[in-house]
Amino acid sequence: MSGGDKLDFEIRPNPAPVSATDRAALLVNPGFGRVFTDHMVTVRYADGKGWYDARVEARAPIPMDPASAVLHYAQEIFEGLKAYRTADGGVTMFRPDANAARFVASAQRMAMPALPPEVFIDSLHKLIEVDREWIPTGADGSLYLRPFMFASEVFLGVRPANEYLYMVIASPVGAYFSGGVKPVTVWVSPDYTRAAPGGTGAAKCGGNYAASLAAQAEAIEAGCDQVVFLDAVERRFVDELGGMNVFFVYDDDTVVTPPLTGTILPGITRDAVLTLAGAAGHRVEERPVTFADWQADAASGRLREVFACGTAAVITPIGGVRFPDGEFLIGGGEPGRVTMALRQQLVDIQRGKADDPQGWVRRVL
Ligand SMILES: *Cc1c(COP(=O)(O)O)cnc(C)c1O
Repeated sequence: MSGGDKLDFEIRPNPAPVSATDRAALLVNPGFGRVFTDHMVTVRYADGKGWYDARVEARAPIPMDPASAVLHYAQEIFEGLKAYRTADGGVTMFRPDANAARFVASAQRMAMPALPPEVFIDSLHKLIEVDREWIPTGADGSLYLRPFMFASEVFLGVRPANEYLYMVIASPVGAYFSGGVKPVTVWVSPDYTRAAPGGTGAAKCGGNYAASLAAQAEAIEAGCDQVVFLDAVERRFVDELGGMNVFFVYDDDTVVTPPLTGTILPGITRDAVLTLAGAAGHRVEERPVTFADWQADAASGRLREVFACGTAAVITPIGGVRFPDGEFLIGGGEPGRVTMALRQQLVDIQRGKADDPQGWVRRVL
């Protein structure tokens, strides 16, 4: 089928699914990204043919030719979102339309074909339907959905591939923070940057993560949890973490995050936090923040709280900052009041426990 926005998914149930007993054991403490469901989505694309062979099938290794283009030139993008169990036994997702739109934008930047948003969303519904028993029932659990797409053409020439494979896998996850929300310490790398103007910083591609790993290793070496990246040109402005956006809360109730100028990933959690902070009466600003101001405002006490946000951990307080010349704390290293209130409000909306005036929550089952 070519060019259309609708595809029929063929459902091929896994003939040997994990037993209910084994599944229950796996769901007790799944951690993050280690346990997977019984099925996966595959949809193929070829130039001239469009998207075809949409399937939900048994999760299994995918045969790959060693000359598959993605293995050499990293033409790959992904998404991440969660499905939640509701109190009445139903299932919801949070803003899947925003993930679908971002997947199209990422594809464009990486010279890949756009997957129609209808197909993206339908693929999630179909997978959730067959694997619904894998959604944890606990208050903090959810089913993490990982849609991704890569160049599957067997060819070593350097150009956009003409064949792609789109897939979705799903992974039950527990509370990101076992034992309550714990502030993290971030490392400001003197050597590495994440994304330059004109580069791929705004695309959700595996390559950005590959480029961040040496800095992340440096952070761990320095006793920190995560890296916060400065801008690649002047090394003055705060961009974001390796996989989370960053927010600053000041003593005049202003909530600030760096603007989307092409080097920062447009997080859906970031967007939700901007809306929620505004609705809660905070003054909300998207403006550049220098690392020098971050230090000075933390020292003067004007800066009260800093937090990172993204789908996996929702909102994570940043309690400390370390760099080669020193370190400092924010809010005494404790989670801040505004941070925790925004976190609670967002989690309550995602789990159907609070009003959803924006219509962010989408019913799946
Ligand atoms: C995915 C991602 C985020 C967070 O985006 P959400 O849509 O909120 O999950 C932030 N930064 C980077 C680099 C990311 O890849």
